[in-house]
Amino acid sequence: MKTHIEPFKIKTVEHIYITTQEEREAALKEAFYNPFALRSDKITIDLLTDSGTTAMSSKQWAALMDGDEAYAGSVSYYKFEEAVKKITGFKHIIPTHQGRAAEKVLFSVVAKEGKVIPNNTHFDTTRGNLEFIGANPVDLPTDIGVQPEVIADFKGNMDIEKLEAAIKKYGAENIPIGMITITNNSGGGQPVSMANIRETKEVLSKYGIPLYLDCCRFAENAYFIKTREKGYENKSILEICREMFSYADGATMSAKKDGMSNTGGFIGTNSDQVAEKCRTNLIVMEGFVTYGGLARRDLEALAIGFEEVVDENYLRYRVNQSKELADTITAAGVPIVMPAGAHAIYIDAKRFAPHIKPEHFPGQSIACEIYRISGVRTTEIGSLMFGKKDKDGNHIAPNMELVRLAIPRRVYTKSHMEYIAEAVIEVYKNREKLRPMRLTWEAEYLRHFTCRCEYI
Ligand SMILES: *Cc1c(COP(=O)(O)O)cnc(C)c1O
Repeated sequence: MKTHIEPFKIKTVEHIYITTQEEREAALKEAFYNPFALRSDKITIDLLTDSGTTAMSSKQWAALMDGDEAYAGSVSYYKFEEAVKKITGFKHIIPTHQGRAAEKVLFSVVAKEGKVIPNNTHFDTTRGNLEFIGANPVDLPTDIGVQPEVIADFKGNMDIEKLEAAIKKYGAENIPIGMITITNNSGGGQPVSMANIRETKEVLSKYGIPLYLDCCRFAENAYFIKTREKGYENKSILEICREMFSYADGATMSAKKDGMSNTGGFIGTNSDQVAEKCRTNLIVMEGFVTYGGLARRDLEALAIGFEEVVDENYLRYRVNQSKELADTITAAGVPIVMPAGAHAIYIDAKRFAPHIKPEHFPGQSIACEIYRISGVRTTEIGSLMFGKKDKDGNHIAPNMELVRLAIPRRVYTKSHMEYIAEAVIEVYKNREKLRPMRLTWEAEYLRHFTCRCEYI
């Protein structure tokens, strides 16, 4: 059969809000043209993020009831630990309440002011956590990784030559760890090949630098390896995951992604020393070592989530749901980062609205307009999220100006996807009418979450 179906049926339904254009215009104004500030009862389809927006399975909901709320030594923790170890093979698994908490705790142990962390592309919270302590996050994507129109299998890869050059430039003694983000979220949700993970490990090992994976979407990355990388077509997703993690010394994860749950995260490491220090800091920052800021019942749901996410039928549905949306909008001419990622479609705002300069936030303008006409919420990943200023106050734009349509796991049906496509295509048809924007207020870190904007 050619038709891709959702590999689940619906047992409980959740009401969604249908609004008028007038209501949405008022809501946008009230939110200072920042979709992050919209109330969710003004949103029809929410593509702000795939983080913690997953629909849990009936097995996960049932497991919540089995949560053992013991403060220390909870049986639920041991189920979680076993499930994560089965996939990653790491010696130590330390739970956290979400991904950035795992980063904060790990960096409090391995990073310091002035230290350099190379990554294929740091996600915004990873970058924010490092900058917060005065460390220097360095992005080393490949050249094709930052060219939205180029179609290639593994555009999320680390640039190995740039990695070697960076180690020589900064000195291995100033690089406490190297990281690879799978899949490369800020780089367009693009996967990283097994060969690239292996080569990165080889280079880092030469200099005695451990490799940590930011593994939020490890299962989606594994599915891309299975379907795109020679030699992996007959391996199971679990086998591929085990091999990916075998090259790493540790990992941080937001389990709100491929943990198939609404909250959670972990630090994995093979280092007894790092684990011991992380556990000490965890108690101060997150909670005791067998719950890390989570309700123990959440660990039950995660233990099952980690089993469900490596199901190939689920991953095939997941990847094809995104691909079909990408195919529909690109057929109408909408420029996107090619090929489609699994967890999101990224509109290329530079080509979508070439009349708006990066410093006037073309992505934000597109995101606001998509919401205005349809109630579909998306998010800017470009100058607003990553833009910087030089000492003269001039705008320094990131490599790409994107609008991310993140797809929550197991939440939206085919007709929802058709509605999203219609909205995007409609905005594209009227793209000359999109207006430039400017900031009226911004916070010191991670400004896109709370900033205020207006049309110029
Ligand atoms: C979501 C995400 C994080 C941060 O996780 P939170 O759970 O949102 O704190 C870190 N890295 C990547 C690649 C992510 O996608």
